[in-house]
Amino acid sequence: MALVTGASSGIGQGIAIRMAQEGAHMVVNYYSDEEGAQDTQKAIAQAGGKCLLVKADVSKEAEVEAMFAQAKKEFGTVDILVNNAGIQEDADFLEITLEQWEKVINTNLTGPFLCARAAAREFVKRGVKKKTSTAAGKIIFISSVHDIIPWGGRVNYTTSKGGVMMMMKTLAQELAPQKIRVNSISPGAIKTDINKDEWKTKEGREQMLSQIPYGRIGEPDDIAKVAVWLASDEADYVTGATLYVDGGMTLYPSFAAE
Ligand code: NAD
Repeated sequence: MALVTGASSGIGQGIAIRMAQEGAHMVVNYYSDEEGAQDTQKAIAQAGGKCLLVKADVSKEAEVEAMFAQAKKEFGTVDILVNNAGIQEDADFLEITLEQWEKVINTNLTGPFLCARAAAREFVKRGVKKKTSTAAGKIIFISSVHDIIPWGGRVNYTTSKGGVMMMMKTLAQELAPQKIRVNSISPGAIKTDINKDEWKTKEGREQMLSQIPYGRIGEPDDIAKVAVWLASDEADYVTGATLYVDGGMTLYPSFAAE
């Protein structure tokens, strides 16, 4: 069974649907968008998959613990966690409030920490079940190219994603002896709600494309396909890695030959 946080829209929805198509039972976490979560559930049902919807704020310890308890009650255990939920709340550094800082750090950094801890405790308790996987469990963080690319006006977001990178590496190192694989996918520009103000206008799209050597804006399924592979035993020797799925955004496109 795979649990995806923030799966009522965008990348999380895409991952939940594709994992179900590949045969996983799903726990679809959502925050407030129940309708979006139901759309995910419908698509999973169409794929013949089982799905439990759980409303929870990933930044709240009690809600995360209750979500994992519900997931275990329904499916017996948790095999895969996709830490996808995330937000942006942009503000120039001289103007940013403590509230804006904490909101993003709580959702993008503390949330993945709470979920990873709950998942790892379950993986260690259960151990390897050879019929399911060669690993005891898999954790995938949906980070961002902004775990390495600075981004003015968004210190809360970039700091959260930089923190996610070190959390991922530290957990990968610490949990490898327990046969738990921990990795990140760092997307570039993917067409979702988080950046709709940019891709909805012609100028915004052109600006985005100027940073993408591969010449197209990504779709949630570009990330979902990689997540499915990373969660599978095909990737059994991959741990502590960040896969930049970004059409080349991290290749310093402004330095390309004329
Ligand atoms: P999105 O806005 O469609 O999805 C974010 C999801 O997180 C939403 O479903 C939202 O309800 C959920 N969420 C927000 N706060 C939550 C909370 N406290 N508890 C539980 N869920 C919560 O945007 P998206 O682009 O699909 O974003 C998914 C992830 O991908 C984020 O972590 C984001 O930082 C990352 N990302 C996106 C892009 C991109 O270009 N779209 C690029 C890099 C990284």
